Amino acid sequence: MSGEVRNVIIVGSGPAGYTAGLYTARAMLEPLMFAGYMSGGQLMLTSDVENFPGYPSGIGGPEMMVHMREQAERFGLEVHDKNVERVDFSERPFKVWVEGEEYRSEAIIICTGAEAIWLGAEGEDAQKGRGISTCATCDGAFFREQEVIVIGGGDSAMEEATFLTRFASKVTIIHRRDVFKASKVMYERAANHPKIQIVTHRRVKGWLSNEEGLSGAILEDPRDGSEEEIDCTGAFIAIGHKPMTGFLEGEVEMDESGYILHSEHTMTSVPGVFAAGDVVDTRYRQAITAAGMGCQAAIDAEKWLEDQH
Ligand code: NDP
Repeated sequence: MSGEVRNVIIVGSGPAGYTAGLYTARAMLEPLMFAGYMSGGQLMLTSDVENFPGYPSGIGGPEMMVHMREQAERFGLEVHDKNVERVDFSERPFKVWVEGEEYRSEAIIICTGAEAIWLGAEGEDAQKGRGISTCATCDGAFFREQEVIVIGGGDSAMEEATFLTRFASKVTIIHRRDVFKASKVMYERAANHPKIQIVTHRRVKGWLSNEEGLSGAILEDPRDGSEEEIDCTGAFIAIGHKPMTGFLEGEVEMDESGYILHSEHTMTSVPGVFAAGDVVDTRYRQAITAAGMGCQAAIDAEKWLEDQH
């Protein structure tokens, strides 16, 4: 442990984190960011982002995160690509531990986002990374000219399925209901694609495999329990995300799903600890809203620090 106490430590490095970094750096607070071993957040797993203002032709998610990081670093954000293991917010300065080393800070901004949820169907663990994935952008190219399935009925499922048509010979979307959470434009883009078929009222009960890896799935109709099999060598689970707040257990107030609760503006139940982006947001979950909230958290932290002196 060094004797140094930072003004602001930012945990997490998606659009919320980098925007908080940009604003606190420009406010001369010399922020330190722990970006995680895989910095950049969920946008590192996204293909084209077409709905972030300022990019009329769209931009790749990873490329956008590189830009955000460079912009914040230009103003002095110090970034370490490491995970925070645990924290102690019981007294100030707050403490965070990274690879066993203790860091101290007057204010903290948490921007750790949310990660993909797995189905947990029979046989899933054995096929993770051998055919079952939660990221088409990462793994889609492994399935050239193969038949794949995508599970889910939200925008993620539509986006993954549409992206997978670049590689796969056929993409089947499996959804447990016949009502879709996906936005109309993304649903229709998928539904009208010649390579995509949509199957409703089916859930994955289990996975089938052979010596080469995944070979299919057992589908169940939740209405009557009837079962059928579908052949596929790749499967992409796109059923939502869970917040990355395990390391904060007992330190800040959260809802029953583990999303951090704000008490006043972007401040959490602990004065001086702020949170922004998907780690608090169960509603909008967009890059632009996360970036906006990162800005709010930075301004809130700056004002709060001013008030302490
Ligand atoms: P959503 O919560 O919107 O959708 C999750 C889907 O998975 C639902 O259809 C849900 O079914 C289904 N599901 C959940 N649990 C299970 C389960 N155990 N078994 C089977 N199916 C299950 O999550 P998304 O990740 O799709 O989207 C999250 C947010 O991110 C949204 O706001 C979305 O708009 C946004 N987004 C935007 C994109 C873009 O604009 N480019 C791209 C991707 C996401 P049910 O409907 O029955 O609950």
